[in-house]
Amino acid sequence: MVEIKVTGSKELIKVGKVICLLRSYKAHAAEMKSAVPTEPEFFLKPSTAMIGHEDFIQIPRESEDVHHEVELAVVIGKPGKDIPEREAMEHVLGYAVFIDVTARDIQARAKKAGKPWSAAKGYDTFAPMSDITPKEKVPEPHNLGIWLKVNGEVRQMSNTSKMIFSVGRMISHISGIMRLERGDVIATGTPEGVSQIFAGDDIEAGIEGVGVLRVGVR
Ligand code: MG
Repeated sequence: MVEIKVTGSKELIKVGKVICLLRSYKAHAAEMKSAVPTEPEFFLKPSTAMIGHEDFIQIPRESEDVHHEVELAVVIGKPGKDIPEREAMEHVLGYAVFIDVTARDIQARAKKAGKPWSAAKGYDTFAPMSDITPKEKVPEPHNLGIWLKVNGEVRQMSNTSKMIFSVGRMISHISGIMRLERGDVIATGTPEGVSQIFAGDDIEAGIEGVGVLRVGVR
């Protein structure tokens, strides 16, 4: 069981499902040579992949091309099913900085063969996440600078205003398929600039008003 701290509180949130959006920024869909979706699309990452601030991403033996993807994570507070978009934000507990670590070579082989992405996305340590910042501290999640640096060099730099779908639309859509529980995490997709990481790298990712997440690679 993975538990994450809420900043400014003693509460620990038990992480449930980790739901990751794909192609939710046009420029990233373009760099992956993928079409822009017409409704939110997602896959699941196991919560056992989660690590925290100042922890380490482990490069798996089976991959020679592991990438970073910085993403705004939305943590669910109030459970629900079939949540209408206009009520969706009431279900948010808070936000966090998330890195959707991806074995790009394993993913590319799976895509080509029409197989699932679970292995490419689900290795242990492939879900670094910061502590949770309560939603009251983040009044406008759709206009936040989002960035990631590797060894001090900026690789990703965008703004959540460029997301194709709102957080409310994502919550409404996902909850029409699967019940959302307290502690479920929605990783809202990455902007452009994904690139390879190597053992020994230092990664620093941040989202304006949400926090900074630093992890190593080994
Ligand atoms: Mg992603």
